[in-house]
Parts: sequence; C-alpha cells; structure tokens
Amino acid sequence: MELSYWEHKSWFSDVDYTVVGSGIVGLTCALHLKLRYPEAKVLVLEKGVLPQGASTKNAGFACFGSISEIMDDLQNHSEDEVLDLVERRYHGVLLLRETLGDKVLEFQKGGGHELFLEEDKELYDQCLEAQQKINKLVSPIFGKNTFVKLPNSFGFKGIVDHYITNPHEGSIDTGNMVSSLLRKVQSTGVMVLNTVTVENYQKIPDGVRILTDKFEFNSGKLLIATNGFASQLLGDLVKPARAQVLITEPIKDLHIQGTFHLDKGYYYFRNVGNRILFGGGRNLDFEAEETTEFGQTSLVQDRLESLLQEVILPGKPFNISSRWSGIMGVGTRKKPIVKELSEGVYCGVRLGGMGIAIGSIVGKELAQLAQ
Ligand SMILES: Cc1cc2nc3c(=O)[nH]c(=O)nc-3n(C[C@H](O)[C@H](O)[C@H](O)COP(=O)(O)OP(=O)(O)OC[C@H]3O[C@@H](n4cnc5c(N)ncnc54)[C@H](O)[C@@H]3O)c2cc1C
Repeated sequence: MELSYWEHKSWFSDVDYTVVGSGIVGLTCALHLKLRYPEAKVLVLEKGVLPQGASTKNAGFACFGSISEIMDDLQNHSEDEVLDLVERRYHGVLLLRETLGDKVLEFQKGGGHELFLEEDKELYDQCLEAQQKINKLVSPIFGKNTFVKLPNSFGFKGIVDHYITNPHEGSIDTGNMVSSLLRKVQSTGVMVLNTVTVENYQKIPDGVRILTDKFEFNSGKLLIATNGFASQLLGDLVKPARAQVLITEPIKDLHIQGTFHLDKGYYYFRNVGNRILFGGGRNLDFEAEETTEFGQTSLVQDRLESLLQEVILPGKPFNISSRWSGIMGVGTRKKPIVKELSEGVYCGVRLGGMGIAIGSIVGKELAQLAQ
C-alpha cells in the first residue's frame, strides 16, 4: 500500500504506542494508555474486519470457575495460585462493568450452575466432598458459602438431581461489550485500523519498526494482544484452541435462565432471551481443535445437538439458528502471560476460556507495564 505524505503524517508518524489485536485485551490496553497519556498517539491494528478472535465469538459468561474446574486446577496449581486466578476473574468482571456499565453490557447476575451427567456421579460426589474446603478457599472473595447445592429446577434430563451453583456468576451481551468498548476507545482519540495484519517487528534505536502486510512504520512501543494467534509473533508461548458454538432459534416458553457448565467446563450453555446458546466439545478431539482456522466439525456439532436434545431441552422442539467458532489461547498454566518480551515490546496473552472475566485486568496490566 502506497502512503501519501499526508497519510503518513496523520496516521503513522510519531506513534507512541501500537497495540496489535482489538479484542478485549487490546482495546482495554489502548484505553488505559490513552487515559494515562492523553497526548500520546495510540494506534490499534486489527487483522479482521471486526475483532476476529474470541472476544466477539464467546458465550458471554461472567464466570469465575465452576467447582469441578477449581478442583481440577488445584491438581496443577497451588491454593494461592488458584485463589489468585479466581480473584482476578472476579475483579476483571468488576472492572469491565465499571468501564462499560451494566446496562450496556446487559449484565445479568443469574448464577452459574454446574451440572453433572449421571455418568459423572462420582465427580459430583467428589465436588460435594470438597465443597466446604473450596468455599473456605474462595471466602476472601465471595464471603461465606459460595458454592451451594440447588435442585434440578429447570428439568434437565440425564443429570444428577442437584446442581452446584455459584450465585455470583452472571452473563453479558458479548457483541455489546466489544462494540461499546470500541466506541469508547475511539472516542478517546485512539485510532483503530482494521484489516491490517502485523507480520513482524524489528528493534530500532528509538523504538520498534512494525512490519504489516500493507505498510511499515515506527512506533515507540509495541503491545501484542493477539491471544490465540500469538504464535505468529511470539513463538510457542501460547497454543490456539478453537471453540465451537451454536445458538437456537427462539424457543416458545423457554423456562431456562442463567449460565450452566457441564463436564468440567468443557460444555457451557445459557439462555440469550428465549434462545439457548451452547458451546464446547473441544475435549472430543483436542488435536483437531488446536488450530487458528475458524470452522465446525460434525464430531463436535453432533455432540452439541445430542446433548441439547437429550439433556438440556428434552421433549422440546428447537431449530438451530446459527453456528460459529472462535479461537482461544491456552497453555499448560492457566495464568495469563503479561510481560516485557524485549525492550519496548510487551505481550498480554493466554487468556484461556475466561478472557471475558479476566481480559479487562490483563489489558490494564499490559498498559501499566508499558508506561
Ligand atoms: C466460543 C468461545 C466461548 C467463550 N466463552 C467465554 C465466556 O463465556 N466467558 C469468558 O470469560 N471467556 C470466554 N471465552 C474466552 C474469551 O472470549 C477470550 O479469552 C477473550 O476474548 C480473549 O481476548 P483477547 O483480547 O486476548 O483475544 P481476542 O479476542 O482473540 O483478540 C485478539 C485479536 O488479535 C487479532 N490479531 C491476531 N493476530 C493479529 C496480527 N498478527 N495482526 C493484527 N491483528 C491480529 C485477532 O484478529 C483478534 O481480533 C470464550 C471463547 C470462545 C472462543
């Protein structure tokens, strides 16, 4: 792309900060840079027409970890690390709500219920056994008795007769979140350019030279918020993990309200008005889902449909309205990576399946790191 003198002067000269990626992390980072340095020139580069990773594709759970996930995490992380993860998710949701407001987000605190399939009765019993210990662990965040046992009041089939619920969890409207965050960021004077892929960068004496698929320019600092696509610029710090989702057409007299986790969090569903949004199934074939390619597989989609038919909406007719996928960034540890990679180059990546909960905090921390 040939740049005129004017284009270069207005967009690409004296850039102080360049953020790569306009998901929740990149946008929040840009916002905090601009709030801290109103005079700074902050540029966000996004390869998609829209933000095109996970932030506009997700299920919109404002969640902190179901009881079985926390138990699972305790196998590989210390108690302090697990508490820190849950606390960051909780504060991340608070920060997001503070930034955009509950009305815009359509935040609803309907509680997060974990369901256990009958064949997972042993896991359910283990969770009940651990309930007191985990409630004690998370009590500094939520107070007493966070996880409670509730009867199967929504009439799901093929599950044990109670859920284990965290009443503090809720849901948001994902599209509203990103579109309003984008508007807010742009209103502060940050420039967001779409359909620009950052291909590489080079250290130069006063900053970083940024090489895109369309043009090159210099920036004081570079902040990488590309999560599931991070390997392109960062090597193997983060692995991509595709997550597939479907949503039904509106269902007459839908009685299900809230957010639900199933099978240690590998499946999740919620109501969106009188529709059901249902996602998951990555554990059916981890290898196939370790990809940055969007798309669906019949293995996952068939399992989603059969669980929908047999467990979630037994005896209730429904039609699928649409299906999509998003790309998450995962690794062996759950903690996001927020660090300086080299002088003037920083990253905030590996958000896992809780990036809505934790994305605002990671974006803010990334901005603080680069100040
Ligand atoms: C189906 C699904 C359901 C989910 N459900 C939930 C949920 O209910 N609750 C929850 O908390 N989390 C959920 N998540 C996880 C959450 O959405 C992510 O963790 C979070 O959105 C990550 O945000 P991010 O800004 O780090 O990454 P992204 O939103 O992926 O943003 C990265 C951006 O970088 C851009 N990019 C990548 N490479 C380049 C490049 N070289 N040049 C320019 N731009 C580039 C991408 O196009 C993308 O827009 C879900 C994820 C998926 C996929």
